[in-house]
Amino acid sequence: HETEVTRPTWIEIDLKAIQYNAKLIMEHAGATRLIAVVKADAYGHGAVAVTQALYDIGIRDFAVATISEALTLRQARVHDDFNILLLGVQDVSQVKLMAENRLMPAAGTLDWMKQAVVSLPDNQILDVHLAVDTGMGRMGANSQADVAAMYAFIQESRKLRLNGVFTHFATADDDNEAYYRQQVTKFYQWVGGAGIPKNYWHLANSGSALWHHDEIDTHTIRVGSVLYGFNPGSPALDMPIKLKNVLSLKSRMGAVHQLQAGESVSYGATYTAEQAQWVATLPIGYADGYLRRMGGMKVLVAGKATQVIGRITMDQIVIALDKKYPIGTEVTLIGRDGDEEITVENFANYAETIPHEILTSFGVRLPRIYH
Ligand code: PLP
Repeated sequence: HETEVTRPTWIEIDLKAIQYNAKLIMEHAGATRLIAVVKADAYGHGAVAVTQALYDIGIRDFAVATISEALTLRQARVHDDFNILLLGVQDVSQVKLMAENRLMPAAGTLDWMKQAVVSLPDNQILDVHLAVDTGMGRMGANSQADVAAMYAFIQESRKLRLNGVFTHFATADDDNEAYYRQQVTKFYQWVGGAGIPKNYWHLANSGSALWHHDEIDTHTIRVGSVLYGFNPGSPALDMPIKLKNVLSLKSRMGAVHQLQAGESVSYGATYTAEQAQWVATLPIGYADGYLRRMGGMKVLVAGKATQVIGRITMDQIVIALDKKYPIGTEVTLIGRDGDEEITVENFANYAETIPHEILTSFGVRLPRIYH
């Protein structure tokens, strides 16, 4: 990310709110351990800063998607004594690099593990998390025999060591409870049946930890969304706990001018002023993740709601004003201003997507400011 605000558009991140949310979800789910999912730059919040903040409250387990995300954390030297789990399928040719950096890949097939053992130098040990596919269809053992064979292979291997066993739920954050229960049943039958002790298990994502914590083992939960304060089931499901909002997106008016009746704004001239109207131009656009389909979205000025007019352009947008404001006036695009608030869920719903996609689309041009 850029570190200085040379262009007055920025993201503010409340690290204390992330710490609060981590403690709250553990309490709610009855968890004693939390694996913090900080992939995709901690869902756009900045993985190094988020990892540091969570380390400070005692979290020692982190999960990312790629080796390079993991190396960023190792190289930032947040601390040496924390675990990094790699959630996605990893290229088996990289096992030496993973072992050297104490990264723990998800192991999805017996073949992968056999190749890993061949590629690992003697006396190098790789910790793995056995992935079990109970219904996501992405990766992992998908029968009781498969789980048992992989577990036996790890136990017999001198180069592989089991650090965890997990599955991922497809419908924990929607109302398809039958599918959820089917996944749970498979995990208990296959993993329980293979005799893998419960202290290795981690099943719960945010949706499970929020809405299903009494149906599964939640000693260890593996969560992203809730840390960042948003409802992963929005808008279908209501939150059982009150998380703190973490992220605000703000900008300042770069130009303020008056349109005359009949004058239009932006590409396609889709918006035309019916009478003389004050407007402001903000330095943010779709290249920053303020998606092109956000035309007409609400923004907050001086504690009041107004809206984006005309098409979103790559680097700039135009908003309607009720009067003239000074250049440099702050505008809230996500966050609170007085009694008004635009949440990331509101933003995502307007864009007809989910908060995860919005947050991970905020570009590197937006500086992240922490407090
Ligand atoms: N576990 C795995 C395997 C994931 O892929 C993800 C994220 O997609 C998570 C956990 C965290 O999910 P959530 O943000 O819903 O907590």
